Formats: sequence, structure tokens, C-alpha cells
Amino acid sequence: MIIPVRCFSCGKVIGSDYVKFVEESKKIRKDTGHDPTGEEKSRIMDSLGLERYCCRRMILSNADLMDEIISYS
Ligand SMILES: [Zn+2]
Repeated sequence: MIIPVRCFSCGKVIGSDYVKFVEESKKIRKDTGHDPTGEEKSRIMDSLGLERYCCRRMILSNADLMDEIISYS
């Protein structure tokens, strides 16, 4: 729902990297007209310094549902 501040496995701070990842993904979506491919997502995470696969899965597997849930509160 909300991205955890730290990686569950190694403890690296990833909360701020998720915001940058989403911004870059939106930029790619706007420029190319399609969702970022796996290769493009990988390149974004490399540029953010996310090298460990535990941190990368935190970014990739997060489902941002807050905007959908907040209408029911
Ligand atoms: Zn990690």
C-alpha cells in the first residue's frame, strides 16, 4: 500500500527512491506512450543505486493503492 521506508531484508532506505522511480516511469510513459519495459525499469533502478535484488523487489512489487482506498475512508 505505502512503500516501506527501509528494505525489509537489508535495511537500506528505499522510500525516497520509490518516488524517483515512479517519476522516471511516468516520464517514460509520457515520452514513449507505453509502460516502461523490464529493461527500462532495470536501468532506472541502476541509476538510483539499487543493486541488491532485495531492494529491487521492494520497488517492483509495491502496489500503490492509497488513492483508490482513500475514497472509502
Ligand atoms: Zn535490500
